[in-house]
Amino acid sequence: MSIEHRAPDTELCAGGASPIVAVAQRALADAWALVAGVDCAGCGASDRALCGTCARGLRSRPLLGELDVHSHPLPVTAALPYDGVARRVLLALKEEGRTELARPLARLLRTAVDLAWRGSRAELLVPVPSSWAAAGRRGFDPVALIARRAGLDVTPALRTVRGGAAPQKSRVLAERLVADASRWRVGPRVRGRRVVLVDDVVTSGATLRAAVLALREAGAEVAGCAAIAATPRRVGASSIPWRFLSTADQGHDDNGTREDYREGKEA
Ligand SMILES: [Zn+2]
Repeated sequence: MSIEHRAPDTELCAGGASPIVAVAQRALADAWALVAGVDCAGCGASDRALCGTCARGLRSRPLLGELDVHSHPLPVTAALPYDGVARRVLLALKEEGRTELARPLARLLRTAVDLAWRGSRAELLVPVPSSWAAAGRRGFDPVALIARRAGLDVTPALRTVRGGAAPQKSRVLAERLVADASRWRVGPRVRGRRVVLVDDVVTSGATLRAAVLALREAGAEVAGCAAIAATPRRVGASSIPWRFLSTADQGHDDNGTREDYREGKEA
């Protein structure tokens, strides 16, 4: 495992506001949290960014899913289901700028990446960037920030294009895939390399599919995906079958394959 490196500082705000503005906005948000005091992002209890009960609610319960990309199944690992405290904390970070929550989320991302990296023979970790509009609105890129807090050495090879595709819900799946893939620009560093994609939340998997297609088109081989949280879905053409990993799976040593994972309780 060769992901224990300090992450570069250049991935902030890929495709969004200028790095200087982003850093200034984040510093202001952190300073404000210190001066004004904060409420727990999970339950609203006062004076703690995250109370003990909610911190315990962020313990990992890893899930393994299979993302179908043009009939090639890809393993996707998530640290826990996207509900309850995990959902509220992720939303507080992303939509309220509560960047102090990147630290507890970093532990979860680390767990998911460790599981995805194990046995994958991957060489690079590539984060999925925010859309241009979201990065500009937030002033920071959540995945890049959390990866940095996790000490992950990521390669920011994916960039989103200004404008991007039309809203996903107005399109059928096939159109959506093509439109989503056109949102990305891929840097040359991934050509001929085997990569693991890193994202914050997986819902339908549409974004990951588009990122996988864009990376493949650029000559990269995608070994798998890791995310902090996932929304289990059971219906629809784009649904991802998820299952919880057992403790034995999580401790499984390298050289494992998807078939090595034993099924835990149903998601
Ligand atoms: Zn709480």
